Amino acid sequence: MTRICMIGTGYVGLVSGACLADFGHAVTCVDIDAGRIAALERGEIPIYEPGLKEVVSSNVAGERLSFTTHLGNAVQDAEMVFIAVGTPSQEDGGTDLRYVLDAARDVAKHLRDYTVVVQKSTAPAGTARRVAAVIAENKPAGAEFDIVSNPEFLREGSAVGDFMRPDRVVVGAESDRARNMMKQVYRPLYLLETPIVSTTLESAEMIKYASNSFLATKISFINEMARICELVGANVDEVAKGMGLDGRIGKKFLHAGIGYGGSCLPKDVSSLIHVAREHGFDAPLVTAAHTINQELTDRALEKLARALGAVKDKTVGLLGLAFKPNTDDLREAPAIRLVRGLLARGARVRVFDPVAMENFRRTIDVPVEYGKQAYDTAVGCDALVLVTEWNEFRELDFPRLRKLMRGNVFLDCRNVYTRERVAGQGFVYESFGRGRK
Ligand code: NAD
Repeated sequence: MTRICMIGTGYVGLVSGACLADFGHAVTCVDIDAGRIAALERGEIPIYEPGLKEVVSSNVAGERLSFTTHLGNAVQDAEMVFIAVGTPSQEDGGTDLRYVLDAARDVAKHLRDYTVVVQKSTAPAGTARRVAAVIAENKPAGAEFDIVSNPEFLREGSAVGDFMRPDRVVVGAESDRARNMMKQVYRPLYLLETPIVSTTLESAEMIKYASNSFLATKISFINEMARICELVGANVDEVAKGMGLDGRIGKKFLHAGIGYGGSCLPKDVSSLIHVAREHGFDAPLVTAAHTINQELTDRALEKLARALGAVKDKTVGLLGLAFKPNTDDLREAPAIRLVRGLLARGARVRVFDPVAMENFRRTIDVPVEYGKQAYDTAVGCDALVLVTEWNEFRELDFPRLRKLMRGNVFLDCRNVYTRERVAGQGFVYESFGRGRK
């Protein structure tokens, strides 16, 4: 059992903290957001993440997991301190390291005995070393520490399972003592024979950026193929299937549509481009992946304008706001760009999402109407757009929708349906990369 302090109770901090407690460690999660900690203490989970509530409550009940706003005590009691705070994008695409460096300064002040500080937030190569420098400057004389970089690969929507059964654990470290402590922390995964990549600080940091940039590039690649498929009369779904069966390519991340969003891919791609440019290199491939992705909202708007004649004064309903199903995360969600684009072109917009709507209402200041489910959202709409492929949108009752809507345009931004199925119910069906239409 290791005594762990987890700084940050967002998607990564809360999931990692709860799962490490489930591995048998004693974990104290710290956040500066007092409301969030109060909610956690009441047994409420401040984010939507399937399965998380169960892991949190069983480990709180087992007295292995607790929450506090008092960083000092939590750090003093800990053998290992994980930093899992946000690393948002700056306007120029670079990474805002303010939260990581603030946390490092706070941690430093309270260090006593030897402590391993684990930088888990996604941050550019060199950050862990910077964190170490900040701690060295601010710590009491005599307090010893080692720094580790341990990037996280969990996905929102399946975060608990991803943390418990990862494809690999990456550990960048410079001392055997720290490496051994990391080994103890992840011991249950060693028993599952999870590969552990033991490397340097900078390589660990780059593994995270290279992985996310590769995934983003794969998505943008299939979206470029989708565009060509439309021009030559091919079907991108069949092309992706045929490609994906090649073991060297693999079938994952080959789904054409309105592109990637979320709190990781867009920001990490921008950050990598920014870092490369700071070193005088343009990173043309990753830059193209980013540009292709940004332009997909315009493609969706063009498709709608073509099907509707014009978007101005039309009512458009959006099914799904979250950047992907099973999350309430709206960060960089394509739906936000789409809503803004529609409003800028003079459309009226109605929206519905099974989970992310409250978050949308709170954080995105746009004049839209909110539905209660798919069917009341469709009432009076000229077009309906499927933006997030939540399960409940996968079996829509098209004859019912047709009766409720004023128009008959259905834009499927995730290629969930086929033209035969939807057009057969009297709709003008638009999707991405299927045939010439
Ligand atoms: P988040 O914004 O959901 O949560 C961050 C939390 O840290 C917030 O609750 C905030 O109040 C808290 N915080 C900020 N400064 C603090 C401080 N000094 N002391 C205590 N708490 C503080 O962020 P997230 O989505 O969990 O992401 C965290 C990091 O993990 C980011 O670098 C992100 O890129 C990376 N990451 C995220 C995911 C994901 O799916 N969300 C996956 C892998 C990696």
